[in-house]
Amino acid sequence: MKKKLFVFVIVLLVFFTVLVFWQYKIGPHIQTSADGRSVSVLESNLEIRKYRERMYKKIPQTITIGAIGDILIHDRVYRDARTETGYDFTPMFRDVKELLSEPDIVLANQESILGGTEIGLSSYPTFNSPQEVGDALLDAGIDIVSTANNHTLDRGEIAILQAIRYYEQVGLPYVGHFKDFADQKRIRIIERNGINVAFLAYTYGTNGIPVPKGKEYLVNLIDKEQIHTDVTRAKQIADCIVLSIHWGTEYERYPNDEQKNLANELAHMGVDIIFGHHPHVLQPMEWIETEAGRTFVVYSLGNFLAGQTYPDPGKDYGGLVTIDITKREDEQGFRIELKNPQFMPTYIASKNEQDYRVIPLTNATFLPDAEKKYQEIMEHMTQWLQ
Ligand SMILES: [Zn+2]
Repeated sequence: MKKKLFVFVIVLLVFFTVLVFWQYKIGPHIQTSADGRSVSVLESNLEIRKYRERMYKKIPQTITIGAIGDILIHDRVYRDARTETGYDFTPMFRDVKELLSEPDIVLANQESILGGTEIGLSSYPTFNSPQEVGDALLDAGIDIVSTANNHTLDRGEIAILQAIRYYEQVGLPYVGHFKDFADQKRIRIIERNGINVAFLAYTYGTNGIPVPKGKEYLVNLIDKEQIHTDVTRAKQIADCIVLSIHWGTEYERYPNDEQKNLANELAHMGVDIIFGHHPHVLQPMEWIETEAGRTFVVYSLGNFLAGQTYPDPGKDYGGLVTIDITKREDEQGFRIELKNPQFMPTYIASKNEQDYRVIPLTNATFLPDAEKKYQEIMEHMTQWLQ
């Protein structure tokens, strides 16, 4: 009797083991289709993919893309961020964190190179910033930094390579300065909701510091032939092209002819969105109509976080610009529509070269003329959008 029970238990155990194994090994491969029959996962994955593709084509996808202007870290700003163990810039972005987290992708112009303390920090006229600036940008919701500007070569190749090592370590995509020719050739793509956005970045120059011979990858200069090649390559792999550009005249409220002409050329090359910076003050937004559609340009985004002491009060105002990208697909292919450009002005607050904070202008109630300034900036930025 005991033997029989023992055999029965063994049989039961074997049965359950097989059952569990079956469920584990075979179970996930079986799914039930709508009509109650089982279909293999391979087949159903294919169906899901086909269904998704059909749905993507039917339902237009929309994402919002944003950009902020110069992050230019003067000594008074990094001194303010000093902690016992290093640097912490996160409090400076605390008031704009919510604003910056709204768009699907946000680009920032990292004007001073994040070479880090190892090679010695420095301020105007040849900047080198703590790498913790990047931590604060990531924390604030920045998705990619543009690094081609007149300060890119301030501290030479070593600072650029240190910065790139840091960006790679923390996973913050960069575009504009590169570590080698292969890196320079690699088109940066960020995907959201099935929309692939390519990012390109160029600068008018490097403050007279020559680009080392044979190391032209260190910084992307405005070279129309090069830009044309990059745009053509980006077009093959992306749905939308965003070009970040360092140009214009400092402290000028309007783009000069060079900016206007170049924007027009870029639009006709197929660039969809142009984010401009360098003048340290805000310059208007504009649509440029082309045979292929329209290009959105912001001529200058001003300073976002800087410790400039230049007497022009315009240097303390910047902002976040956003625009919606919609991708529509049908049998003929896809097309991109840009709409709903928005501008949210910001203000760089500080007290006696301390307590640096970027604040949405709508919240800067401590400024006696905040409301008037807001109206003025909104009128200035949108004047060409009608
Ligand atoms: Zn600049």
